[in-house]
Amino acid sequence: MASLTDLTITQLGAALAKKETSAVEVADAHLAKLDEHRALNAFITETPEKARAMAAASDARRAKGEAGLLEGIPLAIKDLFCTEGVQTTAASHILEGFVPQYESTVTTNLWKSGAVMVGKTNLDEFAMGSSNMTSHFGGVENPWKRRGDNRKLVPGGSSGGSAAAVAAYMVPGSTGTDTGGSIRQPASFCGIVGLKPTYGRCSRWGVVAFASSLDQPGPFARTVEDTALLLQAMAGHDPKDSTSAPLALPDFVAAARNPDIKGLRVGIPREYRVDGTSPEIEALWTRGMEMLKAAGAVSVEVSLPHTKYALPAYYIVAPAECSSNLARYDGVRFGLRVPGKDLAEMYQNTRGAGFGKEVRRRIMIGTYVLSAGYYDAYYKKAQQIRSLIARDFNQAFEKCDVLLTPTAPTAAFAAGEKMDDPVTMYLNDMFTIPASMAGLPGISVPAGLDKDGLPLGLQLIGRAFDEETMLRAAAALEKAAAFASRPAGY
Ligand code: GLN
Repeated sequence: MASLTDLTITQLGAALAKKETSAVEVADAHLAKLDEHRALNAFITETPEKARAMAAASDARRAKGEAGLLEGIPLAIKDLFCTEGVQTTAASHILEGFVPQYESTVTTNLWKSGAVMVGKTNLDEFAMGSSNMTSHFGGVENPWKRRGDNRKLVPGGSSGGSAAAVAAYMVPGSTGTDTGGSIRQPASFCGIVGLKPTYGRCSRWGVVAFASSLDQPGPFARTVEDTALLLQAMAGHDPKDSTSAPLALPDFVAAARNPDIKGLRVGIPREYRVDGTSPEIEALWTRGMEMLKAAGAVSVEVSLPHTKYALPAYYIVAPAECSSNLARYDGVRFGLRVPGKDLAEMYQNTRGAGFGKEVRRRIMIGTYVLSAGYYDAYYKKAQQIRSLIARDFNQAFEKCDVLLTPTAPTAAFAAGEKMDDPVTMYLNDMFTIPASMAGLPGISVPAGLDKDGLPLGLQLIGRAFDEETMLRAAAALEKAAAFASRPAGY
């Protein structure tokens, strides 16, 4: 058998079912990788003892014939999901030392299906960013490097730790959250699969809130089928989240195992051909469409005319929601407290010391656009634009069944490049944000390498609550692209 850490979730599941290995052995093999690659800084908190105890309990369940969907599979959890008894920081100083007394619904679902937690992964502070450089606990290093260039690259963000951990074979799968691209963009940068479900598919209960009308948990793995397996376990209606969809779950795994796309209409949105996209990514996009056509799909040009307004509207809606969500961090209830001469000064001191620069910038923008004099001019306008963006997609989906686009305008960049100007950083999400604004599902599939040997992903966007068609197309793309590269040394 190949080394345990090289196996996918599906392969590990089969090996465990055949008793070729045990959950404890699988956990130990992955924990050894956490030790080996600690320099990547992918984890904020490692939980080896918990992992071994959960793995032993998993082996005991299996011995009794009670194996769940993810029985014995080690997973890393973005440190934005509350985990009972385990520090949850959102990569912010203000939450350092916060130990939740409850478990998020998504992680509860994962543990119920038998998965084993190895630790909590690093991210951009409160999930705000595209590089993982805004974490209070330091940046994460992408296991990939440019050929012949030893500079450290970012893993993307905000779920960069979760993506790097999967790309570096520390775990076969992990969780992320995606508000404007934070699952799909790091998946593209790290050469793995990242799936953002339809808004409402996975419960947000117990996930530290950034922008509640956009936030959506989802999985990372090295294959499309593995992301489907994870989604199957994570998703489902949750009465504790009022925006959780009261829908039965389709069989995501069956969809991912069926790359039959004969006659599938794949939309190519005209407006996604934008300046600033690398020519290699343009070429890859064309190649991706050719691959889908060779597999029997039909290509259709569609128009999403409000695409160019998606990014500016997002950078009003997301900060607005973050400014109200983050009002709760006041030094009274959670984490950090910096004393002052009175209550107001204590609030100021705590928030001033606890939040990093990007978070403070967004709170200020959000407070401004929600203020009485500017609400109509900014926030209301942005919400109107959001409706137009959703309408664009609805009209496009009359002509096609799924959309194919690049995931990100560039490959991974070096820590330090693009850092000076927040707006350049925001452009990273220009291809992922429109689907987020419309609440639609998206998946990034690794489709090739650029001239420097870095992975590039292609994004498929599906209709609301039609992850099945999206997964089928993703499986076909994965099969045709046959991406088999791995980062040197991992
Ligand atoms: N990069 C985007 C932002 O900074 C998206 C982040 C996310 O999806 N959490 O807001």
